[in-house]
Formats: sequence, structure tokens, C-alpha cells
Amino acid sequence: MSERLFLSPPDVTEYEHQAVSDAMRSGWIAPAGPHIDAFEHAMAQRVGVQYAVALSSGTAALHLGLLGLGVRPGHTVITSTMTFAATTNAIVYTGATPYFVDSDITTGNMDPVLLEKSLQQLSAENQQVAAIIPVDLFGKAADYSAILPIAQRYGVPVLADAAESLGAQHHGQPAGSFGQAAITSFNGNKIMTTSGGGMLFTDDVAFADKARYLATQARQPVTHYEHVEVGYNYRMSNLLAALGLAQLNRLTAMLQRRRAWREQYRSYFADVPGIEIFGGDDSADNCWLTSIIIDPITAPVTPQQLQRVLEQANIETRPLWKPMHLQPAFVHYPGKITGTAQQLFERGLTLPSGSAMTQRQFDSVLTALDTVVHSRMRIRSVS
Ligand SMILES: *Cc1c(COP(=O)(O)O)cnc(C)c1O
Repeated sequence: MSERLFLSPPDVTEYEHQAVSDAMRSGWIAPAGPHIDAFEHAMAQRVGVQYAVALSSGTAALHLGLLGLGVRPGHTVITSTMTFAATTNAIVYTGATPYFVDSDITTGNMDPVLLEKSLQQLSAENQQVAAIIPVDLFGKAADYSAILPIAQRYGVPVLADAAESLGAQHHGQPAGSFGQAAITSFNGNKIMTTSGGGMLFTDDVAFADKARYLATQARQPVTHYEHVEVGYNYRMSNLLAALGLAQLNRLTAMLQRRRAWREQYRSYFADVPGIEIFGGDDSADNCWLTSIIIDPITAPVTPQQLQRVLEQANIETRPLWKPMHLQPAFVHYPGKITGTAQQLFERGLTLPSGSAMTQRQFDSVLTALDTVVHSRMRIRSVS
């Protein structure tokens, strides 16, 4: 059996090996050092913001972002129900109550109309909404041109979860630069990786300074370890920042590679009834993951059949994120739910999309797909 083909494995080359090894030789083996400063500077430039704070994970960045916005127990934080659990976990860490908003059917991102209805209802109930976290699903920026004016009208700050959308844009503006602050993730499966890591972006120097302070155990600037509040150990390692710098130098090429897979999938499925590439217009997306949506009536196969066939060829696939309002850990939290995210979850399948994938590996995905997709279409057209 051939080696397992994963959805989105790390794309790490000799160049990154060298970068980490050089950083190690430099002696900065700590959560401080010149590579962290350089990585923050380069990332802030790439994303088009003033300040970037390198952290141990995207989840840590969400947590510090919420604390920076003053989110506390008793507050409500609105987020997208179609997301990875990390978004919701960070809200719960603060003691605030998550409130889940359902998806736009085309993109899976937060539906701005439902957001507005949620804010109306929550303010009528005298709930204190302290933040909104839109999520840029699978590399498509949320509809910020609709969301930001709504948030502003209700006086609620936005913390953008751009964990999946580094390199994407919305109306020409880079993902990670929207809202009062934004975060991204450098986990092993993301578009670029530091093995584990994350970053907080903002144009507000006080916000960035507060995050750095809280990320290093909230130490006062004196030699005897004085602490006046609770802090966290959330800073990124200097060695991993060296890895991140090297990955950032290859980001444009990695983005191109993911987009090439997207285009090949699109032409493969073009003649298949009932199967569409998820997300609509992707010209401004980073194409992090390519998913398909399978219509249960008109498509020749079900998501489960496709998943089984690919699994037999040792190829990893996954459904879209299981919505937060259906998760046992979060099912008791309130929200504005229409069923759209659930439908996307039931009909979607994510296919191998990594930038390290070879054309031969990609062709093996199509070969496996073909054993059910086009063969069944032929049977249908004969009968
Ligand atoms: C990956 C991810 C995160 C969390 O990032 P980590 O670096 O794994 O902590 C947060 N939100 C979304 C939407 C993600 O996909």
C-alpha cells in the first residue's frame, strides 16, 4: 500500500531545515530573540498592519485578543458556528458565553443578516456583547464589508479569526488586517507552519504591548519578578520563529501550488452533476483547503461513498467543520441557527490540498475518485 496522502501536511524543505539549524547555532534558544522580532516585523508587513505578536498558538492569540478587548465573565461573544473548536474554546477560557451565528450557504462564513438579527435580539435582552469573531473559513475572508459596519453600529469590536486565511484578501485588503485585531495560526496543517504557533495582528500599539505582557506571565519591568495580575506563557519560541521566517519566504509559491490543485479539481468536477467546488468565487481566496458540496439528489455519489473509496486508496478526506452548536461541549450555548452550516457539514467533503503534494499524488486522488464518480455517470447515461 502506498504512503498515506494527508489533507494538508506541512510543506517543509531543506531551506527550513537550514534556517532552524542556523537559529539554533545563534544561541537564541528561548521564547525571545532576534528571529521573533524579525518574524513579527515581516508578518506585519505582509498582512499590512502595524504590529504583530508571535505566540505559541492561534488559540493563544484568540485568548489574548479577547482579553485585550476586555472580554470577561458575563459577557457574550458572537462567533461563526461553522469553525474549528479553537475559536469557541478561547471564548470559554475568558468566562464569556459564546453565541453561534449560522452560515451563508455559498461560503459557509458568518451570515451578516443573521449577525445583525443576533445583535438586535441580544441588545433587546440587555446582554452585553463584548466582541464578534468572524472566521475566514477554509481560506475565504468573511464578508467584512457587511460585518464591520454592523458591528460598528452596535459599538461591538471585531476580532477576526484569520487562522485559515493567511494570503487571502477581501476587496483588495489582506486577511488578518480586519477588525480591532486579528489572529492567524501556524499549526502544522495550516497554509504555512511553525509546527505550532500563532500571531496576533493589530494597529494599536497599546493592544500589542498588553498582549506581549500577558503572554510572558504578566511580569512587571523590574528585576525581582513582580506580578500584579495573572499572566500566561504564550510566547513563540525563537527557533520556531526562524522556521516561520523561512516559510514566509516561500508563502507565495505555496499559495500558487494550492490554487493549482483547486483549478484541477474544478475542471475534474466540471461535468459531474450535483458536485460543486465549495466557496463560490475564489479569486481572492488562499485556497487553503478544497472542499466539494455533494447534492444528495442529483450527484452520482454520496460524501460517505467518496470518503470510503479514497480511504481504501489510503487518501485522507474530511467533512467540513462540524458546527459548534452541534458539538456536545457547546450544544447548550445560544445562537441564531437556520440549519445552513449543518447542511454544509452533511453534504461537504474536503480533499487533499497541500502545497507539498506532487502531481503524481494528486493524479492518484483523481484515479480513486474516478472509480465511483465518472464510472457511475457512465452507468447512468447508458441506462
Ligand atoms: C487552526 C485554527 C485555530 C487555532 O489555531 P492553533 O494554532 O491550532 O491553536 C483557530 N481558528 C481556526 C478557524 C482554525 O482553523
